[in-house]
Amino acid sequence: MAQILDGTKVRDAILSELKPRVDGLRRRPGLAVVLAGNDPASEIYVRNKIKACAELGIYSEKITPPDSITTADLMALVDSLNRRDEIDGILVQMPLPAQVDAKAVLDSIAPDKDVDGFHPINTGNLVANRPGLRPCTPSGIIRLLKHYRIPIAGQRAVVVGRSDIVGKPMALLLLHENATVTICHSRTRDLPAVCRQAGLLVAAIGRGALVTADFIQPGATVIDVGMNRITDAAEAGRIFARAPDRLAAFEKKGSALIGDVHPVEVAECAGAYTPVPGGVGPLTIAMLMSNTVDSAGRRQQEG
Ligand code: NAP
Repeated sequence: MAQILDGTKVRDAILSELKPRVDGLRRRPGLAVVLAGNDPASEIYVRNKIKACAELGIYSEKITPPDSITTADLMALVDSLNRRDEIDGILVQMPLPAQVDAKAVLDSIAPDKDVDGFHPINTGNLVANRPGLRPCTPSGIIRLLKHYRIPIAGQRAVVVGRSDIVGKPMALLLLHENATVTICHSRTRDLPAVCRQAGLLVAAIGRGALVTADFIQPGATVIDVGMNRITDAAEAGRIFARAPDRLAAFEKKGSALIGDVHPVEVAECAGAYTPVPGGVGPLTIAMLMSNTVDSAGRRQQEG
C-alpha cells in the first residue's frame, strides 16, 4: 500500500518550530486580515487563520470593510496597514467583491508584509530564486516533501495547473530544488501520458478525481492540492465505489470533500500520496504563520 503523507503531522511540526521563534522576538508578530464581503468559505478560512495566530501568540486583527467598498478605499486601508509598525503581515482574503480591482489591491501591499507572497516583487524574487515571501500552499508542499525525505533533485516532476497561487509557484519551487519540471493545463495534449512520466505529480486543477490510475506512474509521489465539495449521490457512488466508509460518510452528511486525484485509485498506484482532507490543506495556514514570523523577524532586525 502507498505511504500516506500526513499534512496535519507536518503542520504540527512547523507550528512547534515556530513557537520558540515567536517567543524569542522582541515584539510579538502581528497579522492583519482583511475580509471584504460575506463569502461563507472566506469567513471560515479567516476564522481558522485568526485561531492559528492566537495559538502561536501572534497578534491578529480582522478588518471587515463593507461589501460595497471601492478599490480606492481598500487600497487606502492597505496603505494604513503598510504604515503600522506592529503589523508584520497583511493578508487580503480573496475573492474580493466584484467591483474591486483585486490586482491593484494586492499590488498595494508592502512587499515585505505580503505574507501570501502574491506581490509582483515577491513573484520576481521567486523566479530569480532570491530571498522573499513565497506563496503558502506550494511552499508547504516543499516542506512536506522534505519532512518525508522524498527526493526532489533530479526527479521528473509534473505540475497540473498554472495558477498564480499554486501551479506556477509550485513549478518554480520544484525547479529551484532541481527537479525537471513540466507544467500542464487545460490545453495540454494527452494529459494522462504526460502525467505518467512523473516521479512526482502535483495536481492543482479544481476538478474532483480527474487524476485517475492511468495518470499515475506506479510508485510515484502524488500531491493533491484540489479541494472539491461533491454533493451528487451518483458521483459519490462512482468515486467511493470501493471505499464503503467514505460512501457511508457521504450518505450521512450529503456532501464530501475530495481532491483532484481519485482517492481510491491513488492509494493503489502511488508510492506515496497526500489524502484529501488531511494532506495539503493543513499546510497552507502553517506556512502563513511561518511567513508572518519570518516577516516579523526580518523587520525587527531591520528596525
Ligand atoms: P485555478 O486558478 O482555477 O487553476 C486551475 C488550473 O487547472 C488552471 O491552470 C487550468 O488550466 C487547469 N485545468 C483546469 N481543468 C483542467 C483539465 N481538465 N486538464 C488540465 N488542466 C486543467 O485553481 P487554483 O487556485 O490553482 O486551485 C486548484 C485547486 O486547488 C482547487 O481545487 C482549489 O480549491 C485548491 N486549492 C487548495 C489549497 C489548499 O490549501 N489545499 C490552496 C489553494 C487552492 P488553464 O490555465 O488552461 O485554464
